[in-house]
Amino acid sequence: MASPAPTLSFDTAFDPQTGRPVQVAPDLVRVTAPNASPYTFTGTNSFLIGQERLALVDPGPADSLHLAALRQAIDGRRVDAIILTHTHKDHSDAAAQLARELGAPLWFGGRHRLSRPLRRFERNPIRNSCDWHLVPDRVLVDGDRLMVDKTRLEVIATPGHCANHLAFGLVGTPILLTGDHVMGWNSTLVSVPDGSMADYFASLGRVLASGYRYYVPAHGGPIADGPAYGKALEAHRRQRNSQIIAAVSAGAHSVPAITGKLYPDVPLAIKVAARMTVMAHIEYLESSGALRVSRRPWGLRVAL
Ligand SMILES: [Zn+2]
Repeated sequence: MASPAPTLSFDTAFDPQTGRPVQVAPDLVRVTAPNASPYTFTGTNSFLIGQERLALVDPGPADSLHLAALRQAIDGRRVDAIILTHTHKDHSDAAAQLARELGAPLWFGGRHRLSRPLRRFERNPIRNSCDWHLVPDRVLVDGDRLMVDKTRLEVIATPGHCANHLAFGLVGTPILLTGDHVMGWNSTLVSVPDGSMADYFASLGRVLASGYRYYVPAHGGPIADGPAYGKALEAHRRQRNSQIIAAVSAGAHSVPAITGKLYPDVPLAIKVAARMTVMAHIEYLESSGALRVSRRPWGLRVAL
């Protein structure tokens, strides 16, 4: 008999202590930015790795209070690199200014790019949240090892939320910085064509196989049993696939109709994200042959 799917429960009780340096581990300090919102939860978590010398991961929004909090936490120590999990602006907006100010190079997974080319008449719905102009001094790729003070970082490519997304393992510890790929407060937004659900599933598998157990995301608190939570997330996404197929077979053939069946009572701001997620699942199910999609000027028609 198959074991039951693990249940997914979100942790929304996190106190970020916004603006204060919080020690997460001996060589890891978190400073949360004051940019709380329905999409960023309690704000972006910036991280300082190291003790005498530092790396700054995800400098976050170019907010004067946050910049002051980061300067205070850095406290005059040398910053060897500014590293990004990805180039959504809530992670990267302060990067160029801080790189100049600290004389630190910018390292990330290449310039912002789409997970697939735009179709005719298609627009990336989250294009304004992306940092299209930021150029890395060093392009990080899967398997890179980076030495920061006494900590060795392992780069794990985790596309899905967006194409250049990376996670960072602190080698010799259970800690994995998961960025927006796995977060404890909510499932990750996957919006096509900025992101890709097929990539997201594949990256989740890679993270689960990486051996790290303590996931430290870029929004919200740490996840104590990362693999158990990641498996529950995966099951939740697979269940969404099944629900969409069921909705189509029950007569829902458009994205709004399918979204209405899956998320009947969500507020408008969340409904926009829900539609993006449904679109990402539909593309995934189309590519795996489970659904047929016809694209028309007024929207998609989805059929079995
Ligand atoms: Zn993001």
